[in-house]
Amino acid sequence: MNTVSDYFGSMVFDDRVMRSRLPAEVYASLRRTIDEGTELDIGVANAVAEAMKAWAVEKGATHFTHWFQPLTGITAEKHDSFISKAPDGSVIMEFSGKELIKGEPDASSFPSGGLRATFEARGYTAWDPTSYAFIKGKTLCIPTAFCSYGGHALDKKTPLLRSMEALSRQAIRILRLFGNTSARRVVSSVGPEQEYFLISKEMYDARPDLRFTGRTLFGAKPPKGQELDDHYFGVIKPGVAAFMEDLNEELWKLGILAKTEHNEVAPAQHELAPIYTTTNIATDHNQLTMEIMQKIAAKHGLVCLLHEKPFAGVNGSGKHNNWSIATDSGQNLLSPGDTPYENAQFLLFLCSVIRAVDDYQDLLRISVATASNDHRLGANEAPPAVISIFLGDELTAVLNAIETDTPYTGAEKTQLRLGADVLPKLRRDTTDRNRTSPFAFTGNKFEFRMLGSSNSIACANIMLNSAVADSLRAFADELEKADDFESALHALIKKTVADHKRIIFNGNGYDDAWIAEATEKRGLSNYRTTADCMPHLLDAKNVGMLTSLGVFSEDELRSRRDIMLENYCKTVVIEANTMISMVRKRIAPAISRFAADLAGQAAVKKTFDPDLRCGYEADTVKTLSGLTDLIEDRTRALEKSLIGLHAAEDIVEEAALIRDTVLPGMGELRIPCDEAELLTAKSYWPFPTYGDLLFSAK
Ligand code: ADP
Ligand code: MG
Repeated sequence: MNTVSDYFGSMVFDDRVMRSRLPAEVYASLRRTIDEGTELDIGVANAVAEAMKAWAVEKGATHFTHWFQPLTGITAEKHDSFISKAPDGSVIMEFSGKELIKGEPDASSFPSGGLRATFEARGYTAWDPTSYAFIKGKTLCIPTAFCSYGGHALDKKTPLLRSMEALSRQAIRILRLFGNTSARRVVSSVGPEQEYFLISKEMYDARPDLRFTGRTLFGAKPPKGQELDDHYFGVIKPGVAAFMEDLNEELWKLGILAKTEHNEVAPAQHELAPIYTTTNIATDHNQLTMEIMQKIAAKHGLVCLLHEKPFAGVNGSGKHNNWSIATDSGQNLLSPGDTPYENAQFLLFLCSVIRAVDDYQDLLRISVATASNDHRLGANEAPPAVISIFLGDELTAVLNAIETDTPYTGAEKTQLRLGADVLPKLRRDTTDRNRTSPFAFTGNKFEFRMLGSSNSIACANIMLNSAVADSLRAFADELEKADDFESALHALIKKTVADHKRIIFNGNGYDDAWIAEATEKRGLSNYRTTADCMPHLLDAKNVGMLTSLGVFSEDELRSRRDIMLENYCKTVVIEANTMISMVRKRIAPAISRFAADLAGQAAVKKTFDPDLRCGYEADTVKTLSGLTDLIEDRTRALEKSLIGLHAAEDIVEEAALIRDTVLPGMGELRIPCDEAELLTAKSYWPFPTYGDLLFSAK
């Protein structure tokens, strides 16, 4: 194993392996299942299972697992070994088609939001043949969907596959209207850019807040942070470079197209981007990437922090979701073309996204809502919580010209009539400049930038695919019944631009003036927290859209809302309890001891000369005593707010209390602790400081 091409995908049961190891008719049948979603018969499944097992055992695998993505946000696996007893007392390695297709894990401990009473513990996992099986360690992992016995989705893959299906169905209707008779499917693809922090394991271990919550709950600003912008794209430190090298190798073996890596804005922050691929596979790959990053970091004495906001006052981590849609023959539907025909089609697909983002701003916000990501959105670094689309000046001017029937003043002065004129050639690189937009058109794809670094990309893409499918459905309904396609198309684009242009904004998304304009003048929604947005998952328009497209049932939506809100509440309560414990057990005693020692030293000095001022000691002791009193009061207040949560009648109310009482209380408690840190001698302070943490990876 020397060159990358020798080992790339070596741990994946991919098309190459299938083609070479499966009997021709089995391969053809499986391919039909993968490409067209035809049903798989048990005979084929048995043959695939046999080949998979033989391949996996040759690679040293002893176990197999149905690998799935429950609503906890991470992946789950339960390992079974291949061994079976032979009549002569020896063991044989066995794996049947039935075991490949379906598993029955005890599902009682996975969140179901009331969809499955715990006494009906069983759920089942069903093989997703569209995502290749792979070997991790000594285990053959089979990507699966996870459902309850009643058939309700208990995972993220099932609705994602449904949303891809819905999008494909509606997009095909549009393509047919444009005379495309050959496309059979339309597929959405994603390239997620993953940000993360690397810190030393030793420092991490010394911080209970990082260990219990993934973020620091205390920490004064270090003398040097990201002010100098000297980290972004800077030289990668040797320890970090070694980590990246190992990581790439591991990802490549799994067929994950890790492509670019660089230092990010904050010290200790980095980014990894793969080459884009089908959304379903991109989702599986991103989950694997996050898992493997943590594993490889541990080998290097590092910890990989995927939390959205591990450090206050330093940029947080996101995940840019680069999304596009293409036909099965590879035509990107978001790419402006060279002919009038292609351009009209492009503009219609563009409008489908504009309408989708405007009508379902709330669903997009909901799809990225977690307690941890709330720290980014709306703070002055990540996109704001208000959703808008950046199109760039050129494309905006084109749409504007169509809407107002005025000549387009771009390259040539022409009245744009769709179907008759060629769009001016768009200069692609000019569209990629705005970094503050939550949803930016970047030449031939959209970049949704609100995702948090730890989010599964499934949620955002479920909503994006569905909302666009909804637009396309409405467009197709209207255009299919038109007598004159071209004028109906022109009218539809014109109307869509007029109705939805409020969502287009090319300016600075971090500007306060924009937030005011967005919310007051344009009526865009601004949900700052998970507690604010999540209840809207059940708004009639959202339920109507998602159920009519077959992406979710109403029960599934209700359960998801509850699970997300429970998760929000539990996350914050754990953080609050961690703070209280750190204050009582470590911080307050440390400050108090330091103050007492200072007082003692002053007293000793005064034995030499009672008139000595001992200004440093006296001032510091006084200030620290004031701070410890504040800390004490605020700790009690925080405890009280936690007790107050019992008064909540339901999860929506509890989440609101968390937002209004617990989170502000945590903010209040942190202030005097961080002030005290700055006044306390290093040897007394019980935890590594921000400076220690941020500059710890070598
Ligand atoms: P930047 O940091 O400028 O946004 P990167 O190169 O870091 O750019 O990331 C761009 C991501 O977008 C990559 O994952 C890339 O594979 C992906 N991408 C490129 N073209 C498409 C496309 N047509 N559809 C989806 N993703 C794409
Ligand atoms: Mg990007």
